[in-house]
Amino acid sequence: MKCQVCRGPAVIDVRRHNANFCQEHFLRLCRDQTAKTIKQFSMLSDGDRVLVAVSGGKDSLAVWDILTELGYDADGFYLGLGIGEYSDTSLDHARRFAESRGLALHTEDLLRDHGFDVPNGSRAAKRTPCSACGLSKRHRFDEAARRGGFDAVVTGHNLDDEAAVLMGNVLHWQTDYLSRQLPILPERHGFPRKVKPLVRLTERDTAAYCLLRGIDYLVDECPMAVGNKHLSYKAALNDIEYDSPGAKHAFYFRFLDQAAHRFAPSDAIDESEDVAPVSPCSNCGAPCSNEVCAFCSLTMRATEAVPIEMGATRRRKVSR
Ligand code: SF4
Ligand SMILES: [Zn+2]
Ligand SMILES: [Zn+2]
Repeated sequence: MKCQVCRGPAVIDVRRHNANFCQEHFLRLCRDQTAKTIKQFSMLSDGDRVLVAVSGGKDSLAVWDILTELGYDADGFYLGLGIGEYSDTSLDHARRFAESRGLALHTEDLLRDHGFDVPNGSRAAKRTPCSACGLSKRHRFDEAARRGGFDAVVTGHNLDDEAAVLMGNVLHWQTDYLSRQLPILPERHGFPRKVKPLVRLTERDTAAYCLLRGIDYLVDECPMAVGNKHLSYKAALNDIEYDSPGAKHAFYFRFLDQAAHRFAPSDAIDESEDVAPVSPCSNCGAPCSNEVCAFCSLTMRATEAVPIEMGATRRRKVSR
């Protein structure tokens, strides 16, 4: 197996490109594909300060590493979710990576800073864990970007993630979601720009990238992901990809090229539940469509019944 670029020994085959690559040229491919995505969708400009949403997994550490290699000024932001050992370990991986590269990692913790964790909070608020988690992450990442004066929030969503979400949205013809399933959401109404520079890379690519770059990422999946429909969509797409290399890429990128505009929103602003008209949340000041934003509302419900130390019950209180 020879590298398609230099004819040296290859370390990986990339079937959708019908090519094999040595270490040097595979790493270059990952960087080039990311740079191409950033340029194609006008995600970032030179001099932008970006905040990378870091989970300690392969995708977020890979995108942080690649952006740094591409010369971007990128800090990381980690939100502790309180999901037992999974969260403790994920923070260790994020910290070790940041320290090894001399990068700034900002951290926040749902339980310490907002009085609830994902397992207990989601139960109290009668939401699925992933719904409570996703809402919390979006709100806290946005707030951290506003507070720190960052130009954009970067997430490590890859091609497998986006194709699986697209499949779910198409299966149920969720046109509202389809309208917002873009690799960039511009800054609007007080929400920071959100970008997904890894949408040309697969999970296998980011895992290989981390391995070859010596990045020690958290391999374990979040225990709350069990039963998540997107896992079965990913498995179905992998089967299709096995028989038709490149199908996943075509599914997602042809959607972007040929169909996404047909679902163009009239006034969609964000992936959150807050839609226009926008006014500041009366509790935290974040832009929202109701008096209190979805995160503060979740926090209120989640902390109403969460027991605190000494057996007392937490009073209804929302932190800013
Ligand atoms: S699987 Fe669900 S609960 Fe776990 S990190 Fe992802 S969104 Fe959060
Ligand atoms: Zn090579
Ligand atoms: Zn709020």
